[in-house]
Amino acid sequence: MHTAQRLEKVPPYLFMTLRNKIKEARKRGIDVISLAIGDPVDPTPERVVAALAKAAADPLNHRYPTDEEWGMTAFREAVARWYGRRYGVKLDPAKEIVALIGSKEGCHHFALGVVNSGDTVLVTDPGYPGYKPSIWFAGAEPYPVPMLAENGFLPMLSEIPSDVARKATAFYLNYPNNPTGAVATRGFLSELVAFAKSYDIAICYDNPYSEVVFGVERLSFLSAAGAKDVGVELNSLSKPFNMTGWRIGMACGNPDIVGAIAKVKSNTDSGIFNAIQYAGIEALDHCDDFTDKMVGIYRVRREKVLAALMHLGWRYVPPKGTFYLWVPVPKGYTSSEFCEYLLERCAVVCAPGAAYGVNGEGYIRLSLTVEEKRLEEALQRMREKLPKFEFA
Ligand code: PLP
Repeated sequence: MHTAQRLEKVPPYLFMTLRNKIKEARKRGIDVISLAIGDPVDPTPERVVAALAKAAADPLNHRYPTDEEWGMTAFREAVARWYGRRYGVKLDPAKEIVALIGSKEGCHHFALGVVNSGDTVLVTDPGYPGYKPSIWFAGAEPYPVPMLAENGFLPMLSEIPSDVARKATAFYLNYPNNPTGAVATRGFLSELVAFAKSYDIAICYDNPYSEVVFGVERLSFLSAAGAKDVGVELNSLSKPFNMTGWRIGMACGNPDIVGAIAKVKSNTDSGIFNAIQYAGIEALDHCDDFTDKMVGIYRVRREKVLAALMHLGWRYVPPKGTFYLWVPVPKGYTSSEFCEYLLERCAVVCAPGAAYGVNGEGYIRLSLTVEEKRLEEALQRMREKLPKFEFA
């Protein structure tokens, strides 16, 4: 059977490849520990599970959730309360919020709703692997904007060639950043708004790690003056409430872009199961403490990984955000070679930086979303089976 040409550009999804690798190794009887994927193993808050169970038992929720196309009003109001409380951002639930099946859906629908075929779309490199396929599906071409260590992994907006910036119609980026863990500053966000205004570029600020920061303020793109004139922020209940499998998030900000996403969405699916939206309200309204506790847990895990890396010769300053560590590879290895080596020697799987873009070469990404005991075991294996490394 023939399939669409647009799929030819799209490489196999990184995490599918990694999952297959892990499965194969396990089939061979190897006790693999995965530090590759950012998918919390810790449970969703009990009260959220209870809210789902209660709402799932109500037949009114068994029907299409299409009465309110942009997501339940009550859910959108809860999003507005959460943004107000956590970020000091005021949102109008009627015009500035649409519920999503996770922020990944938002990345895709943003492209279909905002970008035309043949457009140039800026995307950070390294970057989240979901962005480029969304851009290709819209018939547009991604233009990689380097994110380098010497700039704190922030894109240098003034270095984007002006002919490219003039042609570009949109820009995907996310801070706290996957994969580097870098965080943005208020100064950077203001610069981003000014850049977007001067070139008429729509910003897709993907912010699912907004809650996971260490020692710096939680920051929403929408808190920058003028942000709502130039873009939207995608957010998600996946990471702050350990709800990756539930598939619920939101796009907030510019009413025209929110409307465009909603239009694509209402012609693609029929919304989010109402019971999940009720559970989402519970999470957004009552689980700030839970999120703060999870950040504390990640902090402890980070310290453990850092101690092991130091022991093995790394001199590494951890980033200020996300539950990832973006760790330089030792001298003599590419990122893929070092991942292979870790798998062979320690049966530990990490994500190779090169899979996130050319500027990801030279790094591996470790995720802290693994049970304490398994993390400790992985670190113990690394301490026992790896030599002390040298770095360029
Ligand atoms: N955007 C980034 C930067 C991510 O890292 C992820 C998940 O890892 C997503 C979006 C998808 O999140 P969601 O579960 O909300 O679809």
